[in-house]
Amino acid sequence: MEMEKGKINVQTENIFPIIKKFLYTDQEIFLREMVSNAVDATQKLKTLAGLGKYTGEVGDLSINVVVDTKNKTLTISDRGIGMTHDEVIKYITEIAFSGAEDFISKFKNKTESETNAIIGHFGLGFYSAFMVADKVEINTKTYKQGGQTKAVRWECDGNTEYSISEGDKTDRGTDVILHISDNAKEYLDDYKIYSLLKKYCRFLPIPIIYGTEIVKENIEGEFDDKGNPKTKDVTKPRVINNTSPIWKRKPADLTNDDYIHFYHELYPDVYDDPLFYVHLNVDYPFNLTGILYFPKVKRNLEVQKNKIQLYSNQVFVTDNVEGVVPEFLTLLHGVLDSPDIPLNVSRSALQSDSNVKKISNHILKKVADKLNDLFKNEREEFEKKWDDIKIFIEFGMASDESFYEKAEKFALLKNDLNQSFTIEEYCNEIKDNQTDKDSKIVAVYTTDIDGQYSFINAAKEYGYDVLVMNEIVDNYFISAMERKNDKLTFVRVDADVPSKLINKGDEVPCKLSDDEKNKIKGLFETSVDKNQYVVEIENLSETDMPVVITRKEFMRRMSDMSRFGGGGYGMMGAFPEAFDLKVNANNPIIYKMSVSSNEMENKRLAEQLVDLAMLQQDILKGERLSNFVKRSVELLNKVEDKQTDDKSVDDKSVDEIHIEDKQ
Ligand code: ADP
Repeated sequence: MEMEKGKINVQTENIFPIIKKFLYTDQEIFLREMVSNAVDATQKLKTLAGLGKYTGEVGDLSINVVVDTKNKTLTISDRGIGMTHDEVIKYITEIAFSGAEDFISKFKNKTESETNAIIGHFGLGFYSAFMVADKVEINTKTYKQGGQTKAVRWECDGNTEYSISEGDKTDRGTDVILHISDNAKEYLDDYKIYSLLKKYCRFLPIPIIYGTEIVKENIEGEFDDKGNPKTKDVTKPRVINNTSPIWKRKPADLTNDDYIHFYHELYPDVYDDPLFYVHLNVDYPFNLTGILYFPKVKRNLEVQKNKIQLYSNQVFVTDNVEGVVPEFLTLLHGVLDSPDIPLNVSRSALQSDSNVKKISNHILKKVADKLNDLFKNEREEFEKKWDDIKIFIEFGMASDESFYEKAEKFALLKNDLNQSFTIEEYCNEIKDNQTDKDSKIVAVYTTDIDGQYSFINAAKEYGYDVLVMNEIVDNYFISAMERKNDKLTFVRVDADVPSKLINKGDEVPCKLSDDEKNKIKGLFETSVDKNQYVVEIENLSETDMPVVITRKEFMRRMSDMSRFGGGGYGMMGAFPEAFDLKVNANNPIIYKMSVSSNEMENKRLAEQLVDLAMLQQDILKGERLSNFVKRSVELLNKVEDKQTDDKSVDDKSVDEIHIEDKQ
């Protein structure tokens, strides 16, 4: 065969500089593209051999990746189907190139970040080699026997001209040799290539060999003192990948240990075992395999996103599965593998793709089914794990209507006694004592058992059950439950004085006249910052506290939302902290104050009572706290004086009795 020169027939003359510039930040995917091509060619050979269409030797089909630092080359060799002269011209210079050209014309006017988002996911194939190489050579020999079967050598140095001639390769398959350019030298670094292979090729179905490793091998017939076989160090080719990852196998052939073992293979840095897993395995109407794990997470903070790896036929694509799985499930771990997820489109196009929608719904349904099965069949176990999984479920219910409908059967509410109920069970449990005058069931909750201790205790005196809702996600969960059940509402235990927490419409008569009420109101208004507190006189029972600070449920929720930056309130900036100062008109101390004319004493008492109420809410701080301590000591001193006075009176009366006796 004569040396031929050819010209890649393109409109875009300067296509190579464009490829290099556009793909700069995602350069490393070139290796994935080269190795995937080698895997494809190898699998085609296996298929042909399986069908009896290729009857020659098959032999070792491993793919080799070799770095030659002296010659500055990186070579990917396979023993797949190879290519004939005509095939090289057709597949490499016509078809592959038109793909590259298409890509360029489509994304020419996009910004760099938009383009990077797209090309990360296939689209350039073979030509991505020019991101890192000045020159690319292909040495290939087809599997075909007879006819046009000579080896072929193709070469192109990064402009639209290539040369093609007869090659000297004697073995079937293809070597792609990249002459690494000076500004991509890192791809000659041994560790860099090793890590990239580990990242992209870890689960490819054909063994990928990179370098060697030393392994221990038993020496036949030789044993040590304890009778164990003696070993020797043997240097072996280092296989990068696990060619048969368990997500590709049938669930029926796998044990629980297999799943746990695979989890740790995926995440060597994660110590805890996962809580559950779901094996996905569908081939119609779309193809999807994978395993999703519920990781063990204690607090919100530990939750990490982007732990799910997305594969396409075992080729790693990305660990950003946004748009492919419902958002709340991006908190799970595991792998998804689907050739039906279009990878060369933007994220927004992805979300409107009908296959992706179906896949996303399928995943959601499978996860819900698994949880429902666990709940139904092993409720005790499920309850034990609830604290670890509630974040996923509550977040899911709050953000996804269809998940809410599935999950309301098994989502749990826990009270401060650690008893668990489904939403329905809970409504039945509390409805007799906790229904308000508008026939709404009112669930009382705490976000902080210690901090709201006295409020919890007071609520219990009214026979109310108190739920524990102490995670940020609980706020969203509560709103979701209220949205879905118009007969159910939630109030935090300190949202009102205990007797009014659930408005049953009962009225208590008031002991104060209107004038006295006004006097008391004015007195307390001077003891607090009026911008922050609204003073209200309430007719409570005599035994209720004289002064209680509460925060209206609605106001508190708004302020929480603005702090968490969620629910659309984030834009409003910090929401003001607003409190109600409720003065109990029927408490004996308040009554005494209302009839006392000692203004100084009344003022001191009012301040002391406000401070006590603040203490209960854990908001007594700074100067006000220190004044409170001083005043309390003074008051204690007064108690002491009073006791001494009382004692002298008593003593005196005893003396008088004696005197009387003597007389
Ligand atoms: P794609 O792999 O998406 O088809 P590529 O640009 O990566 O696009 O490759 C173009 C074509 O070149 C492949 O479809 C295949 O026919 C051929 N090819 C590339 N690499 C090899 C290889 N190692 N062995 C055999 N054929 C190859």
